[in-house]
Amino acid sequence: MDFSVLQLTAEQEQFAKEVQAFLDDIVTDEVHERELETGDGFSATVHLALGERGWLYPTWPVEHGGAGLDAVSARILDLELHRRQVPDITAGTTALVWSAVERYLDSAEVDTMRLDVARGHVRFCLGYTEPDGGSDIAAAKVRAVRDGDEWVLNGSKIFTTGAQSCQYTFLITRTDPTLPKHKGMTMFLVPLDAPGVEIQGIRAFSGERTNIVYYSDARISDKFRLGAVNAGWAVLHGPLDAEHSIGGEESGLDDISVGRSFLRVLERALDAAVDWTAAAVRPDGTKVADDRSALQRIGRVATDLEAGIRTPGPLGRVAGSEALVRGSADLVDLVGIEALVSLGDRAGSELGAVEYGHRFAQGTATYGGTVEVFRNIISQHVLGLPQMNYPGRKVFLAPGRSDAMAAAR
Ligand SMILES: Cc1cc2nc3c(=O)[nH]c(=O)nc-3n(C[C@H](O)[C@H](O)[C@H](O)COP(=O)(O)OP(=O)(O)OC[C@H]3O[C@@H](n4cnc5c(N)ncnc54)[C@H](O)[C@@H]3O)c2cc1C
Repeated sequence: MDFSVLQLTAEQEQFAKEVQAFLDDIVTDEVHERELETGDGFSATVHLALGERGWLYPTWPVEHGGAGLDAVSARILDLELHRRQVPDITAGTTALVWSAVERYLDSAEVDTMRLDVARGHVRFCLGYTEPDGGSDIAAAKVRAVRDGDEWVLNGSKIFTTGAQSCQYTFLITRTDPTLPKHKGMTMFLVPLDAPGVEIQGIRAFSGERTNIVYYSDARISDKFRLGAVNAGWAVLHGPLDAEHSIGGEESGLDDISVGRSFLRVLERALDAAVDWTAAAVRPDGTKVADDRSALQRIGRVATDLEAGIRTPGPLGRVAGSEALVRGSADLVDLVGIEALVSLGDRAGSELGAVEYGHRFAQGTATYGGTVEVFRNIISQHVLGLPQMNYPGRKVFLAPGRSDAMAAAR
């Protein structure tokens, strides 16, 4: 790890000011209020405004719709977006899928789509999980049957987050049920406005919006197939490994922990609890700030937070979620009844951040791969332990991918 201080150039300092002024204008209170109300993880106004400047995927070349930014400037932008809590789930899923689209979709289609993705008009979500399959993505049952130049899709996916704001879903389907389960699957980019596709919203405990998507004789052109028929597992691997923080290039400027977004929620809850602790007076007239046990609890959450921020790779995913689950529960317990005020419910109070953190924490142990599944990944791909071998075992990664992770130790 390199902890040296980075000196910004005059251009980078100027860029930071430009970013701040721009975001002051577009990331308004309405954006945050709408996000609390809908849980969309997406703001069309912010997304399109960023796209217009090439700032959605800022290191992409200008001719591809990016801004051709250097890594430091891109990081300045990224930090400002996080600081302002810009809803960014859909930008993230789009970036994950784009790597596979660029590699596997017909090159003429890619050329047509690239600028629309960069400008924010075309967005992708992840269609992996099924009601029966859960973590075992390779158990996918959504059926795709070829009919001439088209494919007919039937079945349903659950937890397709962002489908209501996206144009396409990155869908894993079963094309040959007679083959071993990892070999009979094909990947498609499915237009979500195709007849026979129905999106039904569900809200998670934290208020995040996700969806069930039903496919009923939905027909799509073969041009939306990604990769060879029955080779879907290989196509899925790029985006899945990136989501699981396996391999990939590092600029040295990125967040160390892939669980950083969870920890930002804990950071806000902790700030609110610290402010409360500094001011609160108990009914007997004593100050909470004079109670050493209260300070020790605050200190433990702060230490967990710092440790989580500095934990790399898949370990950071587990550390981030667990620090948030433990820390937010402890803060609710410390603050007591006032911590149960909902975020946004009481003007002028930040204590809603504690209650929100506690609700949000629960889902972080599940989505993007559960913490138990991540422990399997850590044991095999960080510690180099043998794969568990039992009937129906879940296989998440191709053999030979352990080198990058071993290096992260
Ligand atoms: C808010 C939210 C958003 C989501 N967004 C998306 C999305 O955009 N796209 C998408 O495709 N999916 C999405 N998911 C799905 C998510 O990735 C799955 O919920 C998750 O992978 C687990 O599936 P499951 O909930 O069915 O649990 P199961 O897989 O049924 O797991 C049940 C329990 O068994 C444990 N378990 C399962 N397999 C193993 C194993 N091999 N070893 C040890 N323990 C195991 C789990 O850890 C868990 O405790 C989302 C989920 C949520 C809650």
